[in-house]
Amino acid sequence: MTDRYSASRAQHERARRSIAGGVTSAIRGTQRPIPVAFAQGRGARLTDLDGNEYVDYALAYGPLLLGHSPEPVLAAVRGQLSKAIAFGASHRVEAELAEAVCRTVPCAERCVFSTSGSEAIAVALRIARSATARTRVVKFLGHFHGWLDPLAVGGPGAADGSPATAGQDPAASASVTVCPWNDLEALERTLGDDVAAVIMEPVPVNGGCFLPEPGYLEAVRALTRRVGAILIFDEVITGFRLALGGAQERLGVVPDLAVFAKALGAGFPISAVCGSAEVMEEAASGRVAHLGTMNGNPVSTSAALAAVGELERRADELYPLLEAAGSALADILRSEAAAAGLPLVVNQFGAAAYAFWSDAPVDSHLEALEADGESYRELARALLDEGVHVIPRGLLYVSTAHTETDLETTREAVRRACARVSAGLARA
Ligand code: PMP
Repeated sequence: MTDRYSASRAQHERARRSIAGGVTSAIRGTQRPIPVAFAQGRGARLTDLDGNEYVDYALAYGPLLLGHSPEPVLAAVRGQLSKAIAFGASHRVEAELAEAVCRTVPCAERCVFSTSGSEAIAVALRIARSATARTRVVKFLGHFHGWLDPLAVGGPGAADGSPATAGQDPAASASVTVCPWNDLEALERTLGDDVAAVIMEPVPVNGGCFLPEPGYLEAVRALTRRVGAILIFDEVITGFRLALGGAQERLGVVPDLAVFAKALGAGFPISAVCGSAEVMEEAASGRVAHLGTMNGNPVSTSAALAAVGELERRADELYPLLEAAGSALADILRSEAAAAGLPLVVNQFGAAAYAFWSDAPVDSHLEALEADGESYRELARALLDEGVHVIPRGLLYVSTAHTETDLETTREAVRRACARVSAGLARA
């Protein structure tokens, strides 16, 4: 039998001799049958080292809202590269980008730029603690806020608030309280006047793409105001994806601070913390040290400015397209899985979705813990074999580059993958 992944296998073997584990972010090692090595991405399509083509619903774990290699972003980056790669100093594009963020994001009157989402979360916590002169932070079970120690507790898949990984300093999370989400009474019980910040994914896409109960976000907004805690929305995924102004625009609740990354940079490394002028004064005054050699890097800020500009100019056309592509993908997965007798649940909201292998609806973190991750990983593998690239744990993203043809190709591939998995189950 020919091996569809022989070049990827060889690449992985080679990489393992110099890269610890063969992958540069641990999660990439979970792909089956092998972490695929890619050669090229265009629009919604990826090509791997073996020449296999895929319709891509992983989209670099979210940043590629405009698809692979969008021309306006490439043009802006080429233009910047002809001038300079880095300044480590002020330049015009970073201010233009900040203006664009302040124009598009409801809570943003001022912003600062960092490089990764995790880093920006750390900045947001610092600003919140400084603004309130308090230290305790409340996060929610099943929400993910990056890999740094303080908030790497109680994330997706976690049963409780214990550290997510070996090597983590438990003391770093000592001032973090993990609370169930969508449970107002639980929050009321834990929220006191010692809380600096309440941080959440306003739509927890990472844990299962769950929606806030009607009125929940409004109530959290009111509660945090009452006790003087800063409300932080982690919009690393939802930012620019669920609406031009993120989940806060789409759901109509404005936090004090919000963090953006992923889609902001269209694939280039950049993140932002933004908020009211009053709260951001902590950074503006220099009381909070916001540092970083690469902050406001001209290449990343040029890419982000082009991406936000494209989304802003074409918002009326692009957001309905994203909506349609998201629901089309969810429909394809639901209907083809059902036709093959597979128990697939797909939660979808706009351009983000999460698929679970489950007989019952999955509407909460606790229900997500009951779903069969192992079987979904096998389905993800079958999808890969049939030319559809998805994140093995269930996350799904669409981009403005996904066309009707891509979706039609996807339907055929999903049908074949589901039939194979179904036949495998029948044999077992
Ligand atoms: N917050 C959320 C909601 C995320 O999904 C992620 C990354 N998946 C992060 C923070 C961390 O971002 P980064 O990987 O850029 O550090």
